[in-house]
Amino acid sequence: MNKGFALQVTEKSHENVNKCLQCLKCTSGCPIASWMDYKPNQINRMIQMEGKTKVLNSSTIWLCVGCQTCVTRCPMKIDIPHLMDTLREIAVAENISKEPNITIFHQLFLNSVKKWGRVHELELIGLYKLKSGQLFADMQLGQQMFMKGKLKLLPEIVKDKKGIKEIFKKVK
Ligand code: SF4
Ligand code: SF4
Repeated sequence: MNKGFALQVTEKSHENVNKCLQCLKCTSGCPIASWMDYKPNQINRMIQMEGKTKVLNSSTIWLCVGCQTCVTRCPMKIDIPHLMDTLREIAVAENISKEPNITIFHQLFLNSVKKWGRVHELELIGLYKLKSGQLFADMQLGQQMFMKGKLKLLPEIVKDKKGIKEIFKKVK
């Protein structure tokens, strides 16, 4: 048992995974569960019992889309998406990622929000392609989105850039 990791997760997330009943209501409602290497309830159990390595090296923590379905179904009100955010933060701090392209996407997304106040999709796509090496993936879809005006050439910049800076300073 790795009590150090369980404690680290609890202190950082303020979620108590020891309350988990292993009822599987979270997993049975999760729309992404079939693609996850470990199901959400298994992540809870591994935090309790097996510690860090398996959890931080799982694809699950990167595949969770934060849809909140599990939270609404959980009888113990365990906020799993918040738990997944915490696990991602720990993984990034320790330079671990089973899904490096998803990590790249998250970082570029945040950089874009930091720079413009909201995401500039075209820039995000271009940088993602360069960094991930997936230069020709989804070209047709991209073209269709551009033709329909879903991808803007220039970024939309928010007025309160100072406010955005303050937010990033607080969560640093
Ligand atoms: S729904 Fe809640 S109590 Fe049930 S397994 Fe999932 S996290 Fe645990
Ligand atoms: S928030 Fe994550 S773990 Fe919960 S149901 Fe949605 S994808 Fe699954």
